Amino acid sequence: MKLSAALLLATGVAFASAQTNFTGDILKGYPVIEYLDLNDVPANTISRYWISAAEAQGGLPYFVPILVARGSEGSLETGRRLSLSASIHGDELNGIPVVQRVFAALGDVVSSGNFNGTIIGIPTTNPNGNIHNQRNFYSSSSNGFLTNLNRVFPGASIADGGSIADSYAYTIWNSVWANSSNADIAVDFHTLSTGSIGPLWAYADFRLDGVQRLAELAQPDHIKIDPGEPGSIETTWVDFGVPAITLEIGPAKNWNQTLIKRSEEFIWRLLDDLAMLPGNYTAPPETVSIGLENTYKGTNFSYVSVSQSGWVQMDVVPLQDVEEGQSVGTLFNSWGDVIENLTAPVAGRVHTVRVDAAAEQGAGVLDLLYNATST
Ligand SMILES: [Zn+2]
Repeated sequence: MKLSAALLLATGVAFASAQTNFTGDILKGYPVIEYLDLNDVPANTISRYWISAAEAQGGLPYFVPILVARGSEGSLETGRRLSLSASIHGDELNGIPVVQRVFAALGDVVSSGNFNGTIIGIPTTNPNGNIHNQRNFYSSSSNGFLTNLNRVFPGASIADGGSIADSYAYTIWNSVWANSSNADIAVDFHTLSTGSIGPLWAYADFRLDGVQRLAELAQPDHIKIDPGEPGSIETTWVDFGVPAITLEIGPAKNWNQTLIKRSEEFIWRLLDDLAMLPGNYTAPPETVSIGLENTYKGTNFSYVSVSQSGWVQMDVVPLQDVEEGQSVGTLFNSWGDVIENLTAPVAGRVHTVRVDAAAEQGAGVLDLLYNATST
């Protein structure tokens, strides 16, 4: 090899290693990055990266997989930037295949050079929770803590006094989403916690422009018009001026193919609405039609909980309308005696129902969605 070629190669390697703050490590075939700079992600390509969001005791990294679909060269500037994240709660799994399948289906259009924009996908945002089969993030300090990561965004660095959970969120927020500048619209996929069933629904803070349309494009069964939850991914995006919703896809643990499919279809409508797909680059958003005939919008939840510990049998199903005072379930003690008759506190639509019969005192067994303003 001529010296000039060797120098070029060396320069190329050095340049490549600087791209997206590539650490030089390869894990299971994919590069490890410290920071996602979209300018360094190749155009017309779906790229896969790992980022270590924190290190477990002993120095083992919590590697988070990141997918980036980069469209045509100029589309980083002219197109929209969408974030799709799932499973920040480790037992909430229906969003994982939604992100995976959208990226799989995008392969041809992205490589054809006709994709207009950028999508950042994190199918498993909390592998620690997945490992522990658990909603929360486990840290081993003292004799162990569980942290709800969806309450600590945008996180805090260790230098600023953050815990491991805070710094984990900080890394996702700052090193993947670039303190919000890597996305201008976002969907965070969740499901119910383990033990309940429910429909497809969105939490949506209608006060920020763009959120209502985002929620309606999902054509969910329920839209909860909601002021948001401090520290959640959705509300952090909204606080930074980025339209975002939490899309709740039915029950935990069990992949519900019907609701997963509906969520995928939502993302295709959204890509169309954002003019990211070929043939729709100039389509005004209004041309994407939305069917809301089966969508119920509510402003309030009403909850039914059990006052004693026992075994609960619920007699209503999600999306059923109930009247105030209507019987909705029964609580039994271990002898089989009825110890509580459960009734609906308001008229509304059944939102979620507990299917785990073992109910401790104080446990919620039913959520109803209703409109406080219309009664
Ligand atoms: Zn969740």
